Amino acid sequence: MLEEFMSLFDDVKNVSFREDSTVEGKMPLSIEKIIEKELNYFSQKVSITHRKQIPDTPQIPIENPTTWLKIPDIICCFVDMEGSTKLSAGSHDETTAQAYRLFTETAIRIFHDFKAAYIDIKGDGVFSLFNRGQSYSALAATISFKTFVDDHFTPKVKKLTDQDIGGHFGIDQKTVLVRKFGLKSYQSRTDRQNEVWAGKPVNMAAKLASLSTANTLWVSERFFSNLKDERAIYSCGCPHGEKIELWKKEDVSNDSRFDFDTAYSLGSNWCEKHGKSFCSSLIELDS
Ligand SMILES: [Zn+2]
Repeated sequence: MLEEFMSLFDDVKNVSFREDSTVEGKMPLSIEKIIEKELNYFSQKVSITHRKQIPDTPQIPIENPTTWLKIPDIICCFVDMEGSTKLSAGSHDETTAQAYRLFTETAIRIFHDFKAAYIDIKGDGVFSLFNRGQSYSALAATISFKTFVDDHFTPKVKKLTDQDIGGHFGIDQKTVLVRKFGLKSYQSRTDRQNEVWAGKPVNMAAKLASLSTANTLWVSERFFSNLKDERAIYSCGCPHGEKIELWKKEDVSNDSRFDFDTAYSLGSNWCEKHGKSFCSSLIELDS
């Protein structure tokens, strides 16, 4: 077996030293060619086009290898399951499948309903992007999903699996570069390409979400600074008529993963009585 492998390796090695290769390498020719091509692009000048808004996904460039779009102050909402490692695709396949569907599909459809400009799946979480004028929609969408997790997802999955599965929620906002990478089409399929959002927000939102426990939402201070309306800051006053500040300041200055020092966490969900009106009046504040 080892000998077979060695002789295969020798064949491959011989192929990679063919005369038409400009790179002498230790890998098969096709691989050396890929690397050579990309090293060539790496040394070329990048062309960056500024955009104010997130474009429709088909408008995001893929063909010209040096073209990027740059969009300022994009808001990223990230959600994933807390405790999903307790779900097993091996021994509890049906309940695991049901839990994944309930979480992921509901998240995508809620963000879509709140008019997210872009939605995708990252690992087993969902991230959605909103333009800078959509702060309250981004917040309202995430609180709506968080309320769903507390009211429906966690208790239903608990009943089915006897496991405590909650949600992680995070929001950040900053400039991103975007383009598509991958094969434009492959056997008339387009699943070997995807958008890449280079920059802080997607990573930071996911890292903020990873800090959240017990169904809290964590947001960066730069996102939090958009929230000027008191309905986004203070409670409705239920049940005793006293309006309290809903957000807790969190010190993340010792966490080198973040490029900001302060985050804010929110434990509460939409109120039974006022949730609907708060949610719709907040969205109206978006420009
Ligand atoms: Zn209320």
